[in-house]
Amino acid sequence: MSSSKSAYSDLNRYELINIIENQQLELKKLKDGYEEKIHSLNFILQNLPASIYWKNREGIYLGQNDYAKKNMHALGFTKKVLGHTDYDIFPIEIADGFRESDLAVLAGHNLTTEEIITLFDGKKLIFLSTKIPLPDKSKNIIGILGISIDITKQKQAHIAKQEFMKNMAHDLRTPLTGIQGLAQLQEMGLESLEKSKEYGQMIHSAGNELLALLNAVIQVIDTEHMADPVKIEPFNLTELANELQALITPAIYTKRLQFKLKLDENLPIILSDRIKLKRILLNILSNAIKFTKKGEINLNIKLIGLKNKFATIEINISDTGIGIAEKNIDKIFERFYRVNPSYLAEYKGYGIGLYLVKETLNLLGGKIQVKSEEGKGSCFILHFNFPFTHKKPNKNKPSLASYSKIKKKIGPVLVAEDNALALHVVESLLKRAGYKVIVKMNGKAVLEALKKLRVAWVLLDIGLPELKGTEVCKQYRQWEKENNRPHLPIFVLTGHEVEEVTKECNEAGIDLIFTKPFTNETINEIELFLNKFDQ
Ligand code: ADP
Repeated sequence: MSSSKSAYSDLNRYELINIIENQQLELKKLKDGYEEKIHSLNFILQNLPASIYWKNREGIYLGQNDYAKKNMHALGFTKKVLGHTDYDIFPIEIADGFRESDLAVLAGHNLTTEEIITLFDGKKLIFLSTKIPLPDKSKNIIGILGISIDITKQKQAHIAKQEFMKNMAHDLRTPLTGIQGLAQLQEMGLESLEKSKEYGQMIHSAGNELLALLNAVIQVIDTEHMADPVKIEPFNLTELANELQALITPAIYTKRLQFKLKLDENLPIILSDRIKLKRILLNILSNAIKFTKKGEINLNIKLIGLKNKFATIEINISDTGIGIAEKNIDKIFERFYRVNPSYLAEYKGYGIGLYLVKETLNLLGGKIQVKSEEGKGSCFILHFNFPFTHKKPNKNKPSLASYSKIKKKIGPVLVAEDNALALHVVESLLKRAGYKVIVKMNGKAVLEALKKLRVAWVLLDIGLPELKGTEVCKQYRQWEKENNRPHLPIFVLTGHEVEEVTKECNEAGIDLIFTKPFTNETINEIELFLNKFDQ
């Protein structure tokens, strides 16, 4: 009996130890879990990208997260926070505002407000703050818990976008109402031929304005997607400057301005993104022309020095235009910002150019500085450190290897475009210039026709249905070779930048690339090209 009892109590003891051990294990697990949870919560609290703080009923800060602490320091509010009230930290107007909302929260309300804080340098920041009552375990309100997020940038973007829309509505309405009115007059057919022509010109220029607007919108979309990555290649700054001069000469001439180009003799061949640099400079030059009524535009490229495979280059673009007030100089790089919005003033634009300049400069590692005096003119100074090379750059022109093989033939021309309106414009202009025109609206039909018909030359839209313009050309060139045909001049018309499609067109065997819209100028260029190779 006793032995069995002792066995029983032994068993009990073991059981007891087991139970205690199990309990200890459970407890440890709980403690570990608890610690883990606290660690996670603490991590979340400290690292949330928002300022989190809590105060007691008297408004004394009991705690704040790291983000709040860092943010306050960055904004210049460096006084001690814990154990103090808003009145110890902020100017009285700000503290009063905070206390007011705290009191509402202590009365049991949840509050979400936009709080404006004026910094010591006068800059205003906007915070979206949510405050809720802080309860203890028994649900008594013992203070306030707040979360604040800096929404200044979003607010600014919102305002800028509204401003952009306002400008755009204005810039859309003006040419559109013009077109509508003039078209109506034409429709009535009461006008003389002379007047009719004049209306045609006015509609044309209104159309150009709409195109410019569309380009601006495309630019915005482009930057939003940050579409094109940086493409580094060797190139010659002198050649780039000459290309820019050629591009702006018509505008300089029309506005009767003077353009002065000054280039350092020792400019090296540099390595950078040629197209991006060209866009930057063209934007600044276009502004210089736009905002100058009289006088001159200067482009000056200086080599400051060569060091460790890097060339320090300074590019100066100055004008004698309307200038920019000191207070606006920093703002002109903001998106959609314009000193004079279009619904108020004579200068057109969408406030995107310089925003793009700054964004693109960041990609190229360049710096920009602006000096300006109202009424006297502006000077944009750019600094770069470009790697340089002694290798000769590739010529960045469409390959025209087929030049010498081209013989202009008599016969109709073939035009392919899938947009009926665009096709109508091209066809009409060509007919007016004395051409017989065959039109096709899809790629396959073009290829079929080219194999059957004899045409003088072909103008293809790249984005044709069924078979892309470049693909049509590629397949035709193959057929042309196999059948020993003479070289047929094939041109493309594109809505993209020439540089974007050059490679594709060269590979397909296209002779020349033109950008939309198709105008009489395009016909002149085609004829010039054909005549050159007729001789
Ligand atoms: P926009 O399309 O309006 O020209 P930008 O971003 O290129 O847009 O320029 C922003 C604003 O900066 C312009 O609207 C203009 O007020 C001012 N600005 C830019 N360049 C010049 C300049 N060369 N002279 C005077 N003002 C300029």
